[in-house]
Amino acid sequence: MKFWKRGLSVVLSVALLFFTSCAHKALRSSRTIFAMDTVMTVTLLGSQSEQALEAAVSRIFELDALLSATNESSEIAKLNAAGGADIQLSSEVYELLESAVAYSARFAGFFDCTLAPLVSLWGFYTDELYIPTQEELQAALNTVGYQNIRLKGANIAALENGAQIDLGGIAKGYAAEQIRDLLSSYEIDSAILDLGGNVLALGEREDGTSWRVAVRDPVQTNDSICVFKGSDISFVTSGSYQRFFEENGVHYHHIMDPKTGIPAESDMLSVTIITENSEYADVLSTALFVMGYEEAVQFWRASNDFEAVFVLETGEVILTEGASSLLDSQIEALVLYR
Ligand code: AMP
Ligand code: MG
Repeated sequence: MKFWKRGLSVVLSVALLFFTSCAHKALRSSRTIFAMDTVMTVTLLGSQSEQALEAAVSRIFELDALLSATNESSEIAKLNAAGGADIQLSSEVYELLESAVAYSARFAGFFDCTLAPLVSLWGFYTDELYIPTQEELQAALNTVGYQNIRLKGANIAALENGAQIDLGGIAKGYAAEQIRDLLSSYEIDSAILDLGGNVLALGEREDGTSWRVAVRDPVQTNDSICVFKGSDISFVTSGSYQRFFEENGVHYHHIMDPKTGIPAESDMLSVTIITENSEYADVLSTALFVMGYEEAVQFWRASNDFEAVFVLETGEVILTEGASSLLDSQIEALVLYR
């Protein structure tokens, strides 16, 4: 039985609250598109917002066409299909791969950009759940490992041991950073980009107040658990409620444990990362979800470059101290101090 909730997956992870009261009018342009297998809403403020919106939307589609593991003509799909041969990539894809490999090494065992065979095996590319046999799981796992990616310089890459790349854990964050760069050439410094739950809030709203970003309740997915305010900051959520199948009462979600090849048995329902850089936030939210709560908190304590919201399996909400200082709503939550 298939319980694929594609349409929801966006609305899901993080919702945006727009307050349109305009003290002084900047031109606001907004569009919702389907790209990178999710729903995205781009909202821009500024005198060139219409032109910038066209450019931003084209750029997102362009990135989707370069990076998708399922679109046969993408550079990533061509590399995956090359059977180990050298492939000449664009410098953009090559550099993103370098970044994905570096993150995979840094978060080894939690985040890995070579999980395509597992994502495929479980049916997340075709929206059709398949529960693999032990042999199938092992065969897919044997190919997994960022160490199998050979980045040979001059934008040439090859994949060893049957490895296949999936950039789903980093692509939306990368796209958000790319759009941020693009907006500066249209003199836009106020925008909110919601790329399927990867939210980047830039500047302020028309009335000079900060953007508001709500974190989705992973259980009652039409509700939010809290609202944050922020300028020039990303809010990125990974959660087992975002994309999943249910069969015989078992919940199979899209965030894989690279060690076991099965959906990560996290003791959390969602992790929201709050930090400036969207790409980093994207990687971190996935990695910390797989890590589980205790290790994620340890990692936070040892870092000083992000804040987080953890929603445990029990429904408890835990905020880091920096996250609690950005709250714009009342919430019953435990606050962690460093
Ligand atoms: P996110 O929604 O950012 O948490 O990333 C989940 C997506 O990244 C999945 O849909 C897969 O395409 C891919 N993915 C799943 N598990 C992992 C993982 N442990 N590390 C890296 N990418 C993953
Ligand atoms: Mg991610």
